[in-house]
Amino acid sequence: MKYDVVIIGSGLGGLQCAYILSREGYNVCLIEKNQQLGGCLQTFKRNNVVFDTGMHYIGAMDKGQVLHNCFRYFNLTDKLRLRKLDENAYDIIRFGDREYRFAMGYDRFSETMTSYFPKEGEAIRQYVSKLKEISNSADLYNMRDFSEKKTRYFDYYGIGIDNYLNSITRDATLKNVILGISPSYAGVKNRTPLYIPMIIHSSFIESAYRFIDGGSQISDLLAESIKGYGGTILRKAEVTKFLFDAHSMMAVEVNHAEKIEGKNFISNIHPKTMMHLMEKAPIRPAYRKRITSIGDTYGVFSLYLAMKANTFSYINSNYYVFKSRNVWDVRKYFPDELPKGYMMHISPGSKSEKYADAVIVNTYMNWNEVKPWEHTRVGNRGESYTAFKQQKAEKLLELLEMDFPGIRGKVDSYYTSTPLTYRDYTGTHKGSIYGMQKDYNNPMKTMVLPRTNLPNLFLTGQNINVHGVVGVTIGSILTCSSLIGLQPLMTKLRNA
Ligand SMILES: Cc1cc2nc3c(=O)[nH]c(=O)nc-3n(C[C@H](O)[C@H](O)[C@H](O)COP(=O)(O)OP(=O)(O)OC[C@H]3O[C@@H](n4cnc5c(N)ncnc54)[C@H](O)[C@@H]3O)c2cc1C
Repeated sequence: MKYDVVIIGSGLGGLQCAYILSREGYNVCLIEKNQQLGGCLQTFKRNNVVFDTGMHYIGAMDKGQVLHNCFRYFNLTDKLRLRKLDENAYDIIRFGDREYRFAMGYDRFSETMTSYFPKEGEAIRQYVSKLKEISNSADLYNMRDFSEKKTRYFDYYGIGIDNYLNSITRDATLKNVILGISPSYAGVKNRTPLYIPMIIHSSFIESAYRFIDGGSQISDLLAESIKGYGGTILRKAEVTKFLFDAHSMMAVEVNHAEKIEGKNFISNIHPKTMMHLMEKAPIRPAYRKRITSIGDTYGVFSLYLAMKANTFSYINSNYYVFKSRNVWDVRKYFPDELPKGYMMHISPGSKSEKYADAVIVNTYMNWNEVKPWEHTRVGNRGESYTAFKQQKAEKLLELLEMDFPGIRGKVDSYYTSTPLTYRDYTGTHKGSIYGMQKDYNNPMKTMVLPRTNLPNLFLTGQNINVHGVVGVTIGSILTCSSLIGLQPLMTKLRNA
């Protein structure tokens, strides 16, 4: 059987493309190497507690906002179980003992920030106005056709966030506070283009929500719809080779055996990983060289805390905690030291509104730390790896206890993951948190487009636009528009 479209990988991007195309009448086959669909949307359960692995909060989900509109088309808006974060403090940035609360709504955000930095009113006004300008410049973000307004992505890809902030303020503390959410976009001082933090930040300022009982609701609902539209989903089916004729793609090989043929192919896997699977592809060497030379965002060590029942009060805010005065210094750590910062997310469960049963803490981890085990697979890394993770977890708990006294005694059990875990569960290169690293010094080199060198192979997912739920959703629309046209798809999205 030859499918109209074969999609490799069931991350958010793969699922959304499968949904769009099967809904629009294409005969689609979605292929996933794991049993659980969703990539970073995967959750796991221990001690009857559900943990998210790569989706802690989402933005722009209020009525009329971009995700709300798109999710209506995906038949998700009314079905997702969400809890809105604290409108006065959806994110809390902490430096030492000082806390800075990020409020929802551009005006409220400005007012709160100006109350912390009364002399910096003009810089804050400029920052907020730039947030609006950039989010307004993105056509799809505003449900506009490309023809209506010239996109200005490139203007904002050629400037760095760090340079931009230096141009509006000399107040180092204000700059660090704004950069406090940089872990949510894996910011790097001399690389991160202004566009990415601005899109991420504006989506959360518009509105921020958490998933009740985990983000895998999205993958479950999308999978159900895809099957309802006649799509095929294969689990535990690892694509082991891409197969070609002289000019285009013909099929993929699954689990080193079966061949699945298609007229078109969409790859939702990390583009570098994809290149390893297409050694004999009729693509231009320059394209391969460019893709394989793009760097990756960093990885994280994650600590998943299952809390004793009814002991740890639910906090309706995310914490971004820094032990260094300069945000950019957090990644320069020595493995034996306490971490220099972390992000803490508390997952709301359906069991209790008052108490939390799942607390997730992420801190930076350099690939070099896990390199000794790079040739091992999940569950078979040996005792040295277990001891390494335990040592890391104990250090992070020690730090957490300083900021949240008594938390340690409320932990029932804990679980951990490293960049190796992400690599093995999502196929992302070196377990990078958000895929490829965009670089304002070289926007053309680090920009990956949905169209490839081959006429019937397309890309989707966090590497082609911006990572995160909003970025990937817009990316899926862009990818599918290559097959069905942007105008018709936008009309359907607007009318959904
Ligand atoms: C720790 C962490 C926290 C995050 N927090 C947030 C957050 O709070 N809010 C937010 O919006 N975003 C967050 N993100 C980012 C967000 O989760 C991702 O940007 C997004 O989910 C990536 O989707 P994707 O479509 O690119 O696919 P991925 O999630 O990368 O999935 C790729 C899929 O392809 C499959 N695959 C790989 N190779 C093969 C193969 N050979 N054959 C078959 N299948 C294959 C994988 O198993 C996987 O299912 C977070 C990410 C991480 C890692």
